[in-house]
Formats: sequence, C-alpha cells, structure tokens
Amino acid sequence: MSKELTQISEIGEFGLIDRISKLFPVEDEGTALGIGDDAAVIVPSEKDILWSTDMLNEGIHFDLTYTPLQHLGYKAVSANVSDIAAMNGIPKQITVSLGISSKFTVEAVEALFKGIKQACSDYNIQLVGGDTTASAAGLIVSVGILGEVDPDRKSLRSGASKDDIICVTGDLGAAFLGLQVLEREKQVFQANPEMQPKLDKYKYLVERQLKPKARIDIIHELRDVGVVPTSMIDISDGLASELLHISKASGVGVRIIEDNLPIDSQAYDAAVEFNISTTTCIMNGGEDYELLFTISQEDFKKIEKHPDIHFIGYVHDKPNENILISKQEQVIPITAQGWKHFD
Ligand code: ADP
Ligand code: MG
Repeated sequence: MSKELTQISEIGEFGLIDRISKLFPVEDEGTALGIGDDAAVIVPSEKDILWSTDMLNEGIHFDLTYTPLQHLGYKAVSANVSDIAAMNGIPKQITVSLGISSKFTVEAVEALFKGIKQACSDYNIQLVGGDTTASAAGLIVSVGILGEVDPDRKSLRSGASKDDIICVTGDLGAAFLGLQVLEREKQVFQANPEMQPKLDKYKYLVERQLKPKARIDIIHELRDVGVVPTSMIDISDGLASELLHISKASGVGVRIIEDNLPIDSQAYDAAVEFNISTTTCIMNGGEDYELLFTISQEDFKKIEKHPDIHFIGYVHDKPNENILISKQEQVIPITAQGWKHFD
C-alpha cells in the first residue's frame, strides 16, 4: 500500500466521522441539526413525508474492480432519490450508513463521500447523519432518505385505470448493456493485465451503469404543467417487472407497443454486438432509474411534445392480460424474468 494512504485505524471511527461531517455543513432550511448529535433534527412542513431506504452490497450490487468509489456514492444516493421521485415527491434529507472492510483507507471513504456530496448538490438534498461500522465481508452502503409531497399530488403504484396512457422517461436498456461491457472488460483484464480497456464507444452505457441520475427534473416539470401521474414507479429492476407491479397494484392490464420503446443509439449498437435483442435489454435490463408512469387521457396534451417522455402503451381493465405488441404485430405476454421470445 502506498505511503500517502491512511488506514482508518490511524484516525479511528470518530476521526473519520469528523472528516465526513466537515464535508457536509447544514445548508438546508428544513434541517435544524445535522451530523454530530445522537439524531438529526428535522423541521416538519405541511406536506406528507416520504421515507425510504436502499442498500448496496459489494459482490451483490457492485464490483469494486470496475466501480470507482465516487460513482458508487453517487449511485447509492440516486437509487434513493429515484424512489422519492417515483412517489412524485421531492427529496430532502439522507443518512448514509457504511459497513467498511479493513482493507479500506480513509482516502477511499473520502472518495465515496465526494460522490455523495456531488449527488447532494445535484439533487439539492442534505446529508444529516448515518452510522459507520466494520464489515467482515465487503463494503455495504445503506442510504436512508426523507422526502415530501403535497398530499393531493402523491403517485402510488395502485392508481392506474382503464384507458390511461403509459409513459416512460429517457431511454432504457443502456445501464444493463454498460454492465455487460464492464464485465467483459474485467474478464479481458484478468486474462491479460497488460490490456487497457477500450471504453470510449461505450461511454454513455458505462456512465448509465456506474453513475445513474434520478429523474427529479421530470417531477418538477410535471408539476409545472399541472400533471399528476395516476400511478408511478421507478425502473430499477427492468420495465417488464415494473409494469407488472403497476398491473398488480392497480388491478389493471397493460398493452405495450414495442415500436414505441425508447433506446439510445449506443445501446442499440451494443445490443447488436452482444447479440442480445434490444427489447430484452429494455424490458428486462434494469438499473435505468427512469420513471414509468400513467396519465389520464385528458393530460396527454400537456406533455405530448415533451422530448424526453415516451408514450409506450395503454392501460386496460383485464389484470391478467399484460402484453407487448411486437413490431410484427405479434401479441407477446409480458413476464418479469426471461424474455425467451426474443433471445
Ligand atoms: P452514536 O454512537 O450515537 O450512534 P455515532 O458515533 O455513530 O453516534 O455518530 C455520531 C454522529 O455522526 C451522528 O450524528 C451520526 O449520524 C453521524 N454519522 C456516523 N456515521 C456517519 C456516516 N457514515 N455518514 C454520515 N454521518 C454519520
Ligand atoms: Mg452510530
């Protein structure tokens, strides 16, 4: 280990927390007290409180051989902010709890918090506390989040009804393809450490995998044009699985038009290169952190021209009929796992 790196044992847990707290002065009106006491103090508002948590485990959710810690910090916050966005809410405060293995240095923890700080600034949220412990097996990053929403603007999974229009933001499948690229480069590197990975032509895909952004921008835009989605969910597990969640929670069915599914051109090219169908990447890829939502027909005009919202299908009233209409007009049942029809 190089000399400039500091072992956590040299400054101790409290020394480490001290360094973290200096990076995160309280700048938020809704936070009366941040890091430093036994609990944070939050000033209540008139709105409903949203409260969620999401954990990333080394070896399960990320691989440190190709995941820069700064990006990991950013992603852990994005995943949580995305859950608040999916309720049509605005994120406010987070806590960050870490399980750190002994191989970690102070500099590594600081890199993680640099990414967390960038995310806090991008999403306009305040880090107010957390916990730090040793971990026997790998790094654990667990983020808790508070957000708020006007009581009459909440979007639950259960609100979709017949004839609603199904919308998704951004493009889908890129994060999954980014992971395929990174896994392939890892194997090439392990076989021959002299080989430097060539990632230029996959830049967008790799960024979508390593440093995803939550779509709080869309939440503000929907509010500005006066649209409250009848139902909403974020796309963490893949479009198919999220559609089935909405179907189940709302007691409705969905009809999706394959031709309308959005994919980025880099993702399209990579899908061809990896010989995976683009629709498989979109439907089952996951980790895109885009929003899937439904709107009533009368709201369509308000967002019809939005460049980053795509209209991919309709809601109907048969809960057991969740289908994709293929480009050849075949009717294909939507399943959460395996997309055999396309492989
Ligand atoms: P306690 O023993 O009361 O749990 P800690 O020593 O764990 O207190 O934490 C002291 C303060 O530092 C608390 O305000 C806590 O929220 C904060 N803190 C601890 N770990 C982290 C972390 N990883 N990120 C942010 N704040 C942290
Ligand atoms: Mg503690």
